[in-house]
Amino acid sequence: MALQQLPLYEGVITRRLLRQLGEIHRPGELLLSVYLDMAPSRWGDAEGVRIAAKNSLRQLHEHIRALPITNGERQRLLRETDLIQEVATLAAGRRNLRSLACFMASALGVAYALPLPWPTFSRHFLEERFVLWPLHQVLDQSDPFGLILVDKDEARLYLGYLGQVEEMTYIFDEVPPKIRIPDAFGELEFRRKQVVYFHRHFGRVAYTALRLWEQEPFRHLIIGGLWEVLPQFERHLHRYLRERIVARWEVSVHAPKEELQRRLEEEEKRLLERQAELIWHELAEAPPERQARGPERVFRALWEQRVGYLLVQPNTHYHGHVCTQCQRLHLSGGPCIECGGSVAHVPDIYEEAVRVALAQSAHVRYWTAQALEECDGIAALLRY
Ligand SMILES: [Zn+2]
Repeated sequence: MALQQLPLYEGVITRRLLRQLGEIHRPGELLLSVYLDMAPSRWGDAEGVRIAAKNSLRQLHEHIRALPITNGERQRLLRETDLIQEVATLAAGRRNLRSLACFMASALGVAYALPLPWPTFSRHFLEERFVLWPLHQVLDQSDPFGLILVDKDEARLYLGYLGQVEEMTYIFDEVPPKIRIPDAFGELEFRRKQVVYFHRHFGRVAYTALRLWEQEPFRHLIIGGLWEVLPQFERHLHRYLRERIVARWEVSVHAPKEELQRRLEEEEKRLLERQAELIWHELAEAPPERQARGPERVFRALWEQRVGYLLVQPNTHYHGHVCTQCQRLHLSGGPCIECGGSVAHVPDIYEEAVRVALAQSAHVRYWTAQALEECDGIAALLRY
């Protein structure tokens, strides 16, 4: 049956999903992978993003029309392109959305549109397998979080990644009801039983969390619950998980997802800032040839494909230029200083630098700090 609609994916991009996409293989049939640059800083506003997506998909249309394939396959691919167009139109201007990664295999009922908070170049691939490497370059930028909310009879396990939060498991263990205790010995026995139940519950939650980590290896862990419960629970956690704890929250097991999402975003921001500081320290202590401070040196290093880590001040919106021949970035206009080619104007040259750095598998951190301001808001630690 033909696919009617392509919904925007709202969950966490899990290992499981990536594995599923990676395993799909249709010998003799073309699978469509499409990446769309949806960054408002590049296209002005939501309407600009829509137009850019449309133009990019029009090129794909023409490409599909020219392919030496059967008419049935051509119709399928054109239909898939139209569905991508629809979801891109709807998603344009969405908060934190800077690119869209779409994977279509209608014959198998597989169709994903993954919203991503990092910029990418628009491009499409028609191969027997999905092309996932541009997606991996984005996923590489942040770490998945595990989140365990626990109380004495319930627990919820979440994954958080790239601004999304998804509940993975819910656990409920019945605790013996509080009954009227006729004598002191009975009371003692009841308390002992209750303690045993709590420990069994915490043990089960801890084991489930370990299993989740094995399947979806999160780098950082947050635990949440009542203050008096958390230390008791923490003792049950496997050392692998205990060592990953980055925060403890006083929060109800029934806290709404929006609250968790907001708090996780704050936590992630703090962590990314700490990582940016570490990168800066490493940069400052590196030999001079591995340091690039300021746009001119960073753009050269990007052109030479030497950038390992890029630090960028957010929301700068400096205008700039990109060479139409060798893609070298420049602050000023005029012919390219590397190849003499003509240059095209870009409205946000630092955002362009981020896009280029990601495409080179560099790590990028947005960072607001005096030290970076002294480098005009951009610096890089080079690979060699
Ligand atoms: Zn050039």
